[in-house]
Amino acid sequence: MSKPKSCEMVKVVVRCRPLSRKEEASGCERIVDMDVKLGQVALRNPRAAPGELLKTFTFDAVYDATSRQGDLYDETVRPLIDSVLRGFNGTIFAYGQTGTGKTYTMQGQWLEPERRGIIPNSFEHIFTHISRSQNQQYLVRASYLEIYQEEIRDLLAKDHGRKLELKESPDSGVYIRDLSSFVTKNVKEIEHVMNVGNQTRSIGFTNMNEHSSRSHAIFLITVECSQEGPDGENHIRVGKLNLVDLAGSERQAKTGARGERLKEATKINLSLSALGNVISALVDGRSSHVPYRDSKLTRLLQDSLGGNAKTIMVATLGPAPSNYDETLTTLRYANRAKNIRNKPRVNEDPKDALLREFQEEIARLKAQLDKRGILTMERRKRRNRRLKMIEEGPGGESYGVEGDEADDDDDEQGEDEDEDIMEKEAQEYMKEQQEKLETERAAIRDDRSLVAEEKQRMLEEKERMMGDLRKEQEATELLTAKFKAMESKLLVGGKNIIDHTNEQQKMLEQKRQEITEQTRREREIQQQMLLQDEETMELRETFSSLQQEVELKTKKLKKLYAKLQAVKAEIQDVNDEHVRTRQELEQTQNELTRELKFKYLIIENFIPPEEKNKIMNRLVFDAEEEQWKFQPLVPAQNKFTQMKRRPASAVGYKRPISQYARVAIAMGAHSRYRAENVMFLELDMAPPTMFQLEFHRSESDVEPSQEVLLSNASYRETVSATRVRKSRSWYVVHD
Ligand code: ADP
Ligand code: MG
Repeated sequence: MSKPKSCEMVKVVVRCRPLSRKEEASGCERIVDMDVKLGQVALRNPRAAPGELLKTFTFDAVYDATSRQGDLYDETVRPLIDSVLRGFNGTIFAYGQTGTGKTYTMQGQWLEPERRGIIPNSFEHIFTHISRSQNQQYLVRASYLEIYQEEIRDLLAKDHGRKLELKESPDSGVYIRDLSSFVTKNVKEIEHVMNVGNQTRSIGFTNMNEHSSRSHAIFLITVECSQEGPDGENHIRVGKLNLVDLAGSERQAKTGARGERLKEATKINLSLSALGNVISALVDGRSSHVPYRDSKLTRLLQDSLGGNAKTIMVATLGPAPSNYDETLTTLRYANRAKNIRNKPRVNEDPKDALLREFQEEIARLKAQLDKRGILTMERRKRRNRRLKMIEEGPGGESYGVEGDEADDDDDEQGEDEDEDIMEKEAQEYMKEQQEKLETERAAIRDDRSLVAEEKQRMLEEKERMMGDLRKEQEATELLTAKFKAMESKLLVGGKNIIDHTNEQQKMLEQKRQEITEQTRREREIQQQMLLQDEETMELRETFSSLQQEVELKTKKLKKLYAKLQAVKAEIQDVNDEHVRTRQELEQTQNELTRELKFKYLIIENFIPPEEKNKIMNRLVFDAEEEQWKFQPLVPAQNKFTQMKRRPASAVGYKRPISQYARVAIAMGAHSRYRAENVMFLELDMAPPTMFQLEFHRSESDVEPSQEVLLSNASYRETVSATRVRKSRSWYVVHD
């Protein structure tokens, strides 16, 4: 069971964009009013009767048209990213009608630092944090995906048209199979990843606007951090950050669409309506079933809604009167989401931490390198010793001692030498050895005292040694490169990622954060005070006279009456909306029933019953994917006994193939020869063979002469010869 202490509400903030130039030009008036200090939004109905009250909603924070990207980031997003860096999961949704600034809020205008959105700001934040960290190792990776019509696509894969599958494992929960993720070492790299994804998103669709407004884009950042715990062991914390730019929340017009188009229309916002249903179920508290499985989006972000994550929803609004209905819907949606409880906790030492794998691999490589280093070192020592012995020894062959063994300083190697030094030494050693071998070779060549055979043998020996040396050198280089590449990906503050801000800037940042923290607290207190005010007003009041009491009570009555009216209006609105939704659903249902009846009609009248039964018998329902599927024609267990494969021809081709075609294939020639048949299978259009038997003898002779028979035979031959030629002429043309 969850402890209430670890519960945390979903944070909901609302942002309203400025009037667009077009809206301004047409003389629109703003219908959204915001009290930034109190975190309140007031919405005015442009079609309201005079005296109708404004609809007000209270949120964790509100951002009006004058708000800057930085304000929203510092006040709302920064604490969440800090949590992610500490190992919590975090999610930020941007929800709202198309054109109200979801993408502006998430991404912003890339080129202007002031107008950068949440995603680029979070890049800065994460890497700055890492560069200032101490005694911690970080690994940051990013993925980017999109959900369009209930299909998941990887925006970073080469083959981005491929649909990816959602999978579930007991260890890591719901995940996407084969989703590519890139380890990034700095802001530039992760920005590049994001730009690549954005480009992929914008190409390949003729109607970019429509596509982007109907698809959900999710940018995933995983931050893994390894730090030594009090127990002396390294512990890994993993924070996953989902940055979600949802599809436009406006109602898709479903009416009028038929068949495929209707199916498409119902699919487009399936994820979004499922999200709404999940929120309702979570907030309701009465329903035990939360329909996460209804859509890809809700399944993927299950943790962010009522699970192990800290979640922020940014609801974006348009201020123009024409936006009224959608704006109200958005505000209601956001208002409901406020009541979702999450249970975030730090993800410590999860099984699937990539950082651990990296660390282990690096340790393995380092051990290998060390071994190599030690090996070469020892070999060198051994060699040196041997050479010295040879030098001093009696009657030693003196060809190898050219006096280049001056540097024996490697004997006093410390254990704690740096890899850099080691690598340099190894290189030096290699060079030195190579030079030595060269000179030795030269010496052998010049040495007249040796027999030619002996010389040859020694030269070969040297050659082999040089080859070995080179191979070893290459292997070491390869290993070193791999080691360095791996190690550079693990970020350590002050070592391979350096903070360039100076003390003053840091102070400034800190002060700014303190201020935003202060305003946030102030707002909270004000909101609480407002609530308490209403409850405790009468307790504080003492009445000096009856008259005064009546006055005050009337005032209060009026206030309560107004409140009652507001609630009544609200109920009416919700009812209206409910009716509208219901009507729409009924309409959709009617359409679907029509469609179904039509299909039944076709089946009943045009498909033989036995065929229909065959198909019906093969159908099974796949509960996982919620789809009907065909069973395979042959049961899986005796596939091989029942259905034998067609045997390949003797030479391994599927069908007979001509020599010419075989040669053509081998040459990589024209594609038409990939499986050329020997036989000519076209209809023979030659005229029918007709010839007369010419009998030289009398009619009484029944037997035709041998000669005639022969000539007939030759005729037959010529006929078949033309046929063969004809089929051959195929190749001749291409020759
Ligand atoms: P959405 O992604 O919700 O469809 P966009 O982010 O594309 O909407 O915003 C639509 C337009 O409004 C863009 O031109 C954007 O620059 C502008 N815009 C949105 N929000 C703001 C804002 N807070 N300040 C200034 N311009 C904004
Ligand atoms: Mg957008």
